[in-house]
Amino acid sequence: MRHTPYPHSYYAASASPAPERPALQGAHETDVCVIGAGYTGISTALFLLEQGFRVTVLEAARVGFGASGRNGGQIVNSYSRDLDVVEKQVGPRQARLLGEMAFEGGQIIRDRVRRYAIDCDLKDGGVFAAVNHRQLKALEEQQALWRRYGYDRVELLDASGIRGVVNTDLYVGGSLDMGGGHIHPLNLVLGEAAAVESLGGIIHEQSAVVRVQPGERPVAYTEHGQVTARFLVVAGNAYLGDLLPSLAAKSMPCGTQVVATEPLGEELAHSLLPQDYCVEDCNYLLDYYRLSADKRLIFGGGVVYGARDPADIEALVRPNLVRTFPQLRNVKIDYAWTGNFLLTLSRLPQMGRLGSNIYYSQGCSGHGVTFTHVAGRVLAEAIRGQAERFDAFAALPHYPFPGGRLLRVPLTALGAWYYQLRDRIGW
Ligand SMILES: Cc1cc2nc3c(=O)[nH]c(=O)nc-3n(C[C@H](O)[C@H](O)[C@H](O)COP(=O)(O)OP(=O)(O)OC[C@H]3O[C@@H](n4cnc5c(N)ncnc54)[C@H](O)[C@@H]3O)c2cc1C
Repeated sequence: MRHTPYPHSYYAASASPAPERPALQGAHETDVCVIGAGYTGISTALFLLEQGFRVTVLEAARVGFGASGRNGGQIVNSYSRDLDVVEKQVGPRQARLLGEMAFEGGQIIRDRVRRYAIDCDLKDGGVFAAVNHRQLKALEEQQALWRRYGYDRVELLDASGIRGVVNTDLYVGGSLDMGGGHIHPLNLVLGEAAAVESLGGIIHEQSAVVRVQPGERPVAYTEHGQVTARFLVVAGNAYLGDLLPSLAAKSMPCGTQVVATEPLGEELAHSLLPQDYCVEDCNYLLDYYRLSADKRLIFGGGVVYGARDPADIEALVRPNLVRTFPQLRNVKIDYAWTGNFLLTLSRLPQMGRLGSNIYYSQGCSGHGVTFTHVAGRVLAEAIRGQAERFDAFAALPHYPFPGGRLLRVPLTALGAWYYQLRDRIGW
């Protein structure tokens, strides 16, 4: 049987102890079968179990093998496109529902960390950093927009304010969201998976679903077993491949790269990020960084459209790291890894139903630590028969990528190039 281990990353090297779960063997039956053990799948499973459903999770590799175990660890509110974009696509009632959900994910994470005693180095405070005055103005507008939805935890930072939280000359200002923050992402999902099992949920690793049979009682088939359920939840995101071609057609896997430096020591680490907040800049292709619990700088950025693995990750990321913190010119990089997120054309998540009993949520477009947790709650609500919030999400238009399989990568890269140019010239 094929065995897929975690990729070599700082997170895998510092993961909390977790059992290797056995692969699925034979025929089984349950209420809900979840495909994929990232935040979306595990979060859905946990909400369902808390409400008394029987749940089996099938994971192709290990819990948190995908983006959920490799990401920047940044808890960021709202969506990859903000609520002003949402407002243009749906009516006021739906916009209000989606607006409320935009700020729920961080609270779900914090509640779970507390309730299930998950050790994942949770810290409060996230900074958006503006590299030009156009971006700073957009942050002011964002603060006002979020206030309209009742969210009031954002403080604007002028040039000296941002110097107080991140020691670089790069930024003209920014904003600080105390509802943002950061976590050890793999340890969060491992802790949530342990919570799933503590409530009687079943997780099988090394159990890729190779075929889905729709019907009144849909069936998920793996190489050596099958699960028949009342409902399926598809949560494979950028790693789903062609299992369900209709989902693949309206999304595109993209790679982004992360490095972890050697431990910097208390003093140097404190001089870079004195309040230990996480930071992301406001560029279209953004840099994101934070300190780990053992005082490494975890720095990510860049996008590879189509998710080809780059040959030399350090060579891609180090120039931006050194441009941000020239004082780290000679720092050693201990770990470098890549992970795939799923881009949608609108950059808004896609949630929906195939037939009456196969649910999916995908495509947070690189901004999913919080939303995937909301998705878990909303999918569980829909399965329970309360679909108002699910319907509000499902009503967002899902566009296919122009150019189809062949041209979607170059066309999207061209679009990104245009936005990168705007960032560079501050236009
Ligand atoms: C490098 C990187 C950095 C990021 N940084 C941030 C950040 O700082 N903040 C933020 O908000 N977002 C960030 N994101 C995005 C965020 O991590 C994702 O939106 C989120 O983790 C997606 O969770 P998921 O559960 O939907 O998908 P995943 O975590 O990718 O999980 C999908 C799982 O499904 C499994 N699977 C797929 N197909 C099958 C199958 N056929 N059968 C069984 N199992 C299957 C996969 O093995 C995988 O484990 C980042 C993403 C990446 C890649």
